[in-house]
Amino acid sequence: MTAEKLNELRSQLDGINIKLLDLMTQRAEIVTEIGKVKAKIGTKRFDPVRENQMLEDLVSHNKGPFSDDTVRHLFKQIFKASLDLQKTDQHKELLVSRKIKKTDTVIDIKGLKIGGSEKVIFAGPCAVESYEQVRAAAETLKANGVRLLRGGAYKPRTSPYDFQGLGEEGLQILRQVADELDMIVISEIVSPYEMEVAHKYLDIIQIGARNMQNFELLKVAGEASVPIILKRGLSATIDEFKYAAEYVLSHGNSQVILCERGIRTYERATRNTLDISAVPIMKSESHLPIIVDVSHSTGRKDIVIPTAKAALAAGADGIMVEHHPNPPVALSDAAQQLNPTEFAELCTALKPFLSN
Ligand code: PEP
Ligand code: MN
Repeated sequence: MTAEKLNELRSQLDGINIKLLDLMTQRAEIVTEIGKVKAKIGTKRFDPVRENQMLEDLVSHNKGPFSDDTVRHLFKQIFKASLDLQKTDQHKELLVSRKIKKTDTVIDIKGLKIGGSEKVIFAGPCAVESYEQVRAAAETLKANGVRLLRGGAYKPRTSPYDFQGLGEEGLQILRQVADELDMIVISEIVSPYEMEVAHKYLDIIQIGARNMQNFELLKVAGEASVPIILKRGLSATIDEFKYAAEYVLSHGNSQVILCERGIRTYERATRNTLDISAVPIMKSESHLPIIVDVSHSTGRKDIVIPTAKAALAAGADGIMVEHHPNPPVALSDAAQQLNPTEFAELCTALKPFLSN
């Protein structure tokens, strides 16, 4: 008898579940229609006032046994699921995702392709110190077949008492040397205010690790007409890295080069811990090119060659490395900058790795 009763109650419950599902489906259809109307008239999907009215109306009809809070909680879940239905397909997937764009993004700068079949080397001093220093570094690059010249003019230094960079004068020096030697010039900016001056002098603008989540900077980078190198934050997850790149793409600039530069861990043998697995993960989940900074990730010259080989073997589209004509006198990162001989050795060692 009791077993029969239980079965009967359960079958009533099953029927009610189906009815609830049916009602939710009907609700979802209406919500989808509302979404289309909203899109047409340009109204925002989420209307907190309307949501609150609906919840209060439901609570005023609540006869128990559920508490008002429980009713609010249950219906909020239904509202949220309905709101998600109004999201356009585009927003369900990120613009950086390979699900949106299957083919690799190849960035063409003055005929040099980044993200294609050839792998590239970005090199140059940590900081621009003088015309003579940049010119000497650039000549070494050129002699080794490297066209991508980097150098910091706005330096994000840990201590405010350390050399902060030459600012616009540094950008002028980079541009002058790049023009003299037909090179492509990259430098970092640290705030949205520098975007205008950066456009005047640079072929590629870098956003450094410390600014990966400087959202205002990311937004103006999205409005820029030059490619952006976006470095992974010191403690950023791969997802946060992707969302940072998404900021740039969603604001209109799809020319983004990701740069893995190591993350902060407990390990002290290297300056940071190079997350080599981020390279194949990003390559499979995103269509954007990715390079590896072997200088800031390791902080050590003695392991630069095997680290760079590993990066390229893992699928990186290139590497970034610091080179200074005379590292012992460098104003920043003296220990990790390669001298001309070391730089030439690196380039020779990487030759077999530079094409796919
Ligand atoms: C740099 O490339 O000069 C630099 C400061 O690197 P990161 O932002 O990766 O520390
Ligand atoms: Mn540096």
